[in-house]
Amino acid sequence: MPHLRAEVNVSGIVQGVGFRPFIYRTAVRFGLVGFVRNRGDASVEIVVEGDENAVKSFLTSLKEKPPPLARIYRVNVNYSEETGEFREFKILESREVSKLHGSIIPPDIAICEECLRELRDPKNRRHNYFFITCTNCGPRYTIIEKLPYDRPNTTMKNFPMCPLCAEEYVDPLDRRFHAQTVACPECGPRVYLTTRDGQPVDCDDPIREAGELLEEGYIVAVKGNGGFHVATATTKSEPIARLRRVKHRAQKPFAIMARDLETVKTFAEVSEWEAQLLTSYIKPIVLLRKSEDYYLSELISPGLHNVGVMLPYTGLHIMLFDRVREPAFVMTSANPPNEPIVTEDEDALKRLGQDVDYFLFHNRLIAQRCDDSVVRFHGRNPVIIRRSRGYAPEPIRLGRPSVKCVLGVGGEENVTACILLEDKAFLSQHIGDVENLETLNFLRATIDHLTGLTNCTVEAVARDLHPRFNTTRLAQELGEKFGCPVIPVQHHHAHLAGLMAEHNVDELVGIVCDGFGYGLDGTAWGGEVLYSNIEGFKRLGHLQPQPMVGGDLATKYPLRMAAGILSKAVDVEDWLRSRSRFLPHGEAEASLIAEELRKGRKPILTTSCGRVLDAVSAILDICQERTYEGEPAMKLESAALKGRDILNLEPKIIGENVLDTTYLVLEIMEGLGQHKIADLAYSAEAYLARGLAQIAVEKADELDVEKVGFSGGVAYNEHITQTMRKIIEENGLNFLVHRLVPPGDGGISFGQSVVAAYNP
Ligand SMILES: [Zn+2]
Ligand SMILES: [Zn+2]
Ligand SMILES: [Zn+2]
Repeated sequence: MPHLRAEVNVSGIVQGVGFRPFIYRTAVRFGLVGFVRNRGDASVEIVVEGDENAVKSFLTSLKEKPPPLARIYRVNVNYSEETGEFREFKILESREVSKLHGSIIPPDIAICEECLRELRDPKNRRHNYFFITCTNCGPRYTIIEKLPYDRPNTTMKNFPMCPLCAEEYVDPLDRRFHAQTVACPECGPRVYLTTRDGQPVDCDDPIREAGELLEEGYIVAVKGNGGFHVATATTKSEPIARLRRVKHRAQKPFAIMARDLETVKTFAEVSEWEAQLLTSYIKPIVLLRKSEDYYLSELISPGLHNVGVMLPYTGLHIMLFDRVREPAFVMTSANPPNEPIVTEDEDALKRLGQDVDYFLFHNRLIAQRCDDSVVRFHGRNPVIIRRSRGYAPEPIRLGRPSVKCVLGVGGEENVTACILLEDKAFLSQHIGDVENLETLNFLRATIDHLTGLTNCTVEAVARDLHPRFNTTRLAQELGEKFGCPVIPVQHHHAHLAGLMAEHNVDELVGIVCDGFGYGLDGTAWGGEVLYSNIEGFKRLGHLQPQPMVGGDLATKYPLRMAAGILSKAVDVEDWLRSRSRFLPHGEAEASLIAEELRKGRKPILTTSCGRVLDAVSAILDICQERTYEGEPAMKLESAALKGRDILNLEPKIIGENVLDTTYLVLEIMEGLGQHKIADLAYSAEAYLARGLAQIAVEKADELDVEKVGFSGGVAYNEHITQTMRKIIEENGLNFLVHRLVPPGDGGISFGQSVVAAYNP
């Protein structure tokens, strides 16, 4: 049998995921000699010598059975004659760590099956150890302070390994070989329970004790890998009501963590695809439809047909459920209003101490703040709402590499940052609404960290077109710091460019619907049909511009939006007065609005699809005050769930491809009292979807474009998305939606970077 040498280079996510020990074991199994080592460019270098068949089998295993967390992008192999220089197979030290470029750090990974078994095994030395992890699981992104990903550069540096852990760490045949998070009860982080003012609570099993407190209805702040959660029971309403009071969250849904998948099925409907993601290593929050006999407190997600559920993803979470019968706990990010999630113990005591009864602390620092991810499904398609833990900072791969390194800073709401480097887009974890200093600082720190991790020199900064966003100022500042151009990108163009990059297409007709984006003409856009290609974009059509009476107040109180739209056709004063209880200042406010509409100044106009949905929601009395982003439209979707298209309105196109929304709102108003609320809600959504799809189809035909995409926050709405899909596909066109980045503003930084990268 001929012998040969193979020099192999593997790129992808191959560091920090147990790739080298896997190579070691595989090479030894096939009787090969040589070495494996990490390279500075984040790839892995392998040299093997031996029998030709063995080498071939080795390469097949490498490609077909890599460790679960590894992502292989490319394998290059060079064959040559055997040199005979090796006696055995070895794992060598990393090379050129100083030249890291575009290195890939894995996201945090939920506890694996093997660790779970050990956690439960009384004979295992990690029995009941809450931070049990291995090469295949545990935190990554949230513990890394800098590169390379070695223990001294993580927050595990404060926990020197005991001799037993150290032995596992250096044994290539051990599952914990080079697992930077390896720890045990002897040497690892510890957990302790305190009162709200930080006084230790004397107990021998703090985690299970905390679980019991939760079941009893206490509120406990629980420190996790990426920040604090605030937790309480789900079957009692009293503690949730209290939580809503102290968190100033009247209506915004709370996520819950359920004991296991079987338990989830007792209160929610779970499809095969939802079950898969819920139990995957990502373990995000998945929005599930409440089942008919939903028995958890209605206060968890009031007025909505779905509830955000995740499964335990650390040993600590699992142990919380050990001594209780509670099916699930509320598990919501602990953040003061409009501020990022709390990560430091002192800060937690100061900021959460008033609101919670107990703290469950551990003594490991959190290097990177990271919220839970949120995903919902449209049929079998996952739609990412928040791309954070479990996803970030794993890059999104692009079909068209960028020639320069671009930083996108996002818009204003649901901001993320993005570094685009060659064919990889590193999208940061969820930052939040950048309206105040705390969140802006979090964004700044995240950008620092991302540029550090990727070791790139930023050559262009992309920002929103809005002149007064905080991120616009930040972009200007960063442009000066890096000495590079700052490129403004229109909001809806960014949405669409992201969609195009995700699907690697060069041109697209896109429907982009959301709440607000600064338009080219300085007005508020948000119900757009655009054409986009690599060079730029053109506005093809949009929803009818509608007045926002009182500007931002019309966003908060959708009745104002409804009044504005109706006023074009009828006198709204009496109608408004009859509903003045929904306005904070009652009748006086109703008169004022009517007055302003009759002869007021030139109103602010918007083509926003979100605002039209809001107006319908108010007319149908589904939601009269927006207490969180998207609330009126989300509740409208829930109300429409069991409806049908009773009105079946023909889309009314006025002027140049403008969809008449006054007509829609009037028809809905007309239908009140005659039809069911569910049917009217459904009909309104259907009209918007059909109208915009019709414009898009016509334009696509005209421009000879084969693909129509849908992006923006409204694309979370399943009914609207599926209605558009049907029409577009019936017309022989391809319908594209997001799969990898959020359709909402969490995807804006990605789209901005793409536009700035490809534009000359
Ligand atoms: Zn594990
Ligand atoms: Zn140990
Ligand atoms: Zn948007």
